[in-house]
Amino acid sequence: MPIDSEFPKNHKVMGKHQTSDGSYVHFVWGPGRSDAESATNTQVQQDYQTRGEEYTPLGVHGTFVAVDWDACIADGGCIEACPVQVFQWYRSEQDIPATQMVNATSEGIGENSNRDGRKDFTDKSDPIREQACIWCMACVTVCPTTSIKVDEANLPVHEEALSAFK
Ligand code: SF4
Repeated sequence: MPIDSEFPKNHKVMGKHQTSDGSYVHFVWGPGRSDAESATNTQVQQDYQTRGEEYTPLGVHGTFVAVDWDACIADGGCIEACPVQVFQWYRSEQDIPATQMVNATSEGIGENSNRDGRKDFTDKSDPIREQACIWCMACVTVCPTTSIKVDEANLPVHEEALSAFK
């Protein structure tokens, strides 16, 4: 199920995920949806069970490089394809439930080059260095669940959120 191309209209900003030095900031849009691939993919759901974590809708991380974490099944093709390391496996830095990443602060030094660097299939591709994007669209092309939307037109939406979310 593709990412909702109108997610900024259909979702609200739930939080702000930034690096500890403040150099990168991306927004998290929710509430997400319970009928996308994460909810139905056997591998993903088995790994949630093994962890003893309950899957709940997670929403979209990022605004102009946006990853629908409900559609992301931890394929990791985007992580290998990105020439400027925009993404990292979120659990490689903070191995906590994804719901706790809504207002997280990270170092931005997690696994970001190896698609097999995921902890397991509950991991998600996190656009931690969203502002580094050079608009090549490689991540969009390789994603098997079309969970990524890269759109320069959403830059003003990000800027607006920055003003609103101090
Ligand atoms: S569009 Fe290209 S540079 Fe931007 S996040 Fe995707 S792969 Fe990386």
